[in-house]
Amino acid sequence: MVRDIIVYPNKILKQKSKEVTEFNEELHTLLDDMYDTMIAKKGVGLAAIQIGVPKRVLIINVPIEEEDGAQPKENTLEVINPEFLEMEGKTKYQEGCLSVPGFYEDVERYKRVKLKYFDRYGKEHILEDDDFLSIALQHEFDHLEGKLFIEKLSIIKRKKFEKEWKKRHKQ
Ligand SMILES: [Zn+2]
Repeated sequence: MVRDIIVYPNKILKQKSKEVTEFNEELHTLLDDMYDTMIAKKGVGLAAIQIGVPKRVLIINVPIEEEDGAQPKENTLEVINPEFLEMEGKTKYQEGCLSVPGFYEDVERYKRVKLKYFDRYGKEHILEDDDFLSIALQHEFDHLEGKLFIEKLSIIKRKKFEKEWKKRHKQ
């Protein structure tokens, strides 16, 4: 089921999400709804708080370039209670966010991350990445901490954003 996305500056997005303790049907429905919502809104990642659920749950689905950007459900990385074990190097990438629609800006992130997480069945996994997935994981993880990518912008870029945002939402 497609759910509504919470948009900046809604304060819900500032909430710190809580650990998942039960890997049950409710969690599976949440994950399924997150996938439906992410696809409907043409996103590549989504955190549960973006649909108003303050749980440490995020999904990422990197589009397959060779298949016209397809995002089959079985390719969805479902990440529960994530914890970064290692973060190193630096990289810059133009990010966007379904909660800040229509705005894109370069953000500095760690290049490589090593992440521990649980899947929907409560099984523990470890993954490493130094490419797009690494950036997406850091972006979505920030949502669980109640942070948005625009908070990582320089003061000048942040001011530019606020100005543009206000102008756009007045109309
Ligand atoms: Zn986001």
